[in-house]
Amino acid sequence: MEQHYDFVRYCPVCEGPCTGSYTFKFTLNKDSYVFDIDSHSIDAIFEMQMEKHTGEYHDLPKTVREWNEMTGWRDEDSGTYLDIDEFIKCLDSNESDLNRKDFVAILIRFLRFAKSNNEEITVELW
Ligand SMILES: [Zn+2]
Repeated sequence: MEQHYDFVRYCPVCEGPCTGSYTFKFTLNKDSYVFDIDSHSIDAIFEMQMEKHTGEYHDLPKTVREWNEMTGWRDEDSGTYLDIDEFIKCLDSNESDLNRKDFVAILIRFLRFAKSNNEEITVELW
């Protein structure tokens, strides 16, 4: 069985998924859980995180640095695991600033569900 959450919003200009998308996924009891979101909506969260940060670059959360450097969880080739707690913190702290809130609460619930079952989330970029 697959539980699929599709929050990909298509580009208003070309009406296609031209900016790409992120797929968060994990498997539990042979069921796969998949969450798709357009990359623009996720990238906006990290852009804000970078803008708000006043200290040294290395004081940024690892999840944010990896987003910026396209390494770790955001490395297209390696597909390493996401730090779920840090990622949820990023989502939470930016929620009031986002112009797209429809997916945030559901993504947080999705990530917490994985975490509570000790499942690791992998991220794919399309
Ligand atoms: Zn487009």
